[in-house]
Amino acid sequence: MSAQESYNELTRICREVALIYSSYAVLSWDQHTYMPPAGISFRAEQLGMLSSTGHKKFTDPKVGDLLSNLEQSDLAKGDTPESANIRELRHAYDKQTKLPTELVEEITKTTSMAHEAWAKARKESDFSQFEPWLAKVINLMQQKADAYGFEGERYNALLDDYETGATVTDVENVFASLRDELVTLLQKIKDAPKQPDKSIVERPYDVKLQEIFGKSVALAMGFDFDSGRLDITTHPFCTGIGIGDTRILTRYNPNRLNDALFGTMHEAGHGLYEMGLPKDKYFGLPMSQSISLGIHESQSRMWENQVGRSKPFWEYFFPQAQRLFRDSLGSVTLDEFYGAINDVRPSYIRVEADEATYNLHILLRFEMERALLNGDLKPADVPGEWNSRFKKYFGIEVDKDSNGCLQDVHWSAGLVGYFPTYTLGNLYSAQFFNQADKELDDLEGQFRRGEYLGLREWLREKIHQHGQRYRANDLCKRITGSGLDHKPLVTYMNKKYGDIYGF
Ligand SMILES: [Zn+2]
Repeated sequence: MSAQESYNELTRICREVALIYSSYAVLSWDQHTYMPPAGISFRAEQLGMLSSTGHKKFTDPKVGDLLSNLEQSDLAKGDTPESANIRELRHAYDKQTKLPTELVEEITKTTSMAHEAWAKARKESDFSQFEPWLAKVINLMQQKADAYGFEGERYNALLDDYETGATVTDVENVFASLRDELVTLLQKIKDAPKQPDKSIVERPYDVKLQEIFGKSVALAMGFDFDSGRLDITTHPFCTGIGIGDTRILTRYNPNRLNDALFGTMHEAGHGLYEMGLPKDKYFGLPMSQSISLGIHESQSRMWENQVGRSKPFWEYFFPQAQRLFRDSLGSVTLDEFYGAINDVRPSYIRVEADEATYNLHILLRFEMERALLNGDLKPADVPGEWNSRFKKYFGIEVDKDSNGCLQDVHWSAGLVGYFPTYTLGNLYSAQFFNQADKELDDLEGQFRRGEYLGLREWLREKIHQHGQRYRANDLCKRITGSGLDHKPLVTYMNKKYGDIYGF
């Protein structure tokens, strides 16, 4: 078989695998939107069948043989879409074939029971019920890392599942500098003379009108409703189902504007990335897929924060919001509104955190799960360690474990190494936005006029169209001239909060 024939055969197999996973995605979307509750166990059987079929197809030794042939050929050389596909398929193939079936089964079984135990422990705010399960999960994660193999420490093997190619060495210094800057920033905000009135966004906001407003914002961002949908769910997400089909989900709170508004912008940011990937040309291959969770999150966070929580954006949209929500916003000024959507205050719960404190929640988790995996922290000591770090970073005492180490689902689900991608997304978003601002003509002026397609096109050209051609840190270097860096995010926050809080 010639190299080109091997490549074509590999492409054919990958397309089939991707068709299976995209069918999974449709069923999973349906499960989170319209499926009647009684359908749950049948749906689980459908999803289980699809994922094991996809896994079997992709881990077939034939795929390994095709890759080995191709790696000897010219197609694997140079900076081309073909070589990127071969490189990333090899990476995925090796990872998926390295885990022994018994370990995969053990992880599935244990995490499903750990999840039950965690849910009950959280409800009763009793860590002792979850502790033995956390110990089991951490032990399995250590085995998983060992099966993958790693350089440096075990954490690298797990981080790579979510952020391909990233290592602890790449992120730990950036994260530590960010943490110190954020602690200082929070103190300044706390001591500031001016404090926004958050209650402005916590008034009645008609859900139908919220939906109209959210859709008009998504449309202005360039979210294409001919190849996308917006629906309602309890835990919002975005799913790129396939060619010409990207779905975003949100939830509405009749007494809070922020949840659905910024949630919709966030998911539409993910959606624009999915829509901008070259799926027509490379469906099924890494060139049609997002780079990493961190890069995906950089797209959503940029639209949500750098755009959606900016003053120029609201100079255009606030009069419209006032007309729609006359009772709640009629007598509010733009500055008051801008302050209210950017209110910062320490709080226990990560998913409810503001833009500034959010990363501290993540950094705390990153430091702790790393220590757990290395064996430097015993599961039994998690609450104590959590609470003392929390006090140090946020300046408040944790009152109960359900507001502390029991709040997140991740560890019970075996998602160790996942948390850092949230902060990576925030860091990359600031770096990319900084660069867009330099390269695009009067970006603030564009926002003020309601023009957002310039930014969308820039993101398409620089990021979306490349699929997995470059890994995250390399892409960042190509676009901005430097790798991961905490400074752009810190500068952006200091300026923004300095204006709002008057320091
Ligand atoms: Zn997201």
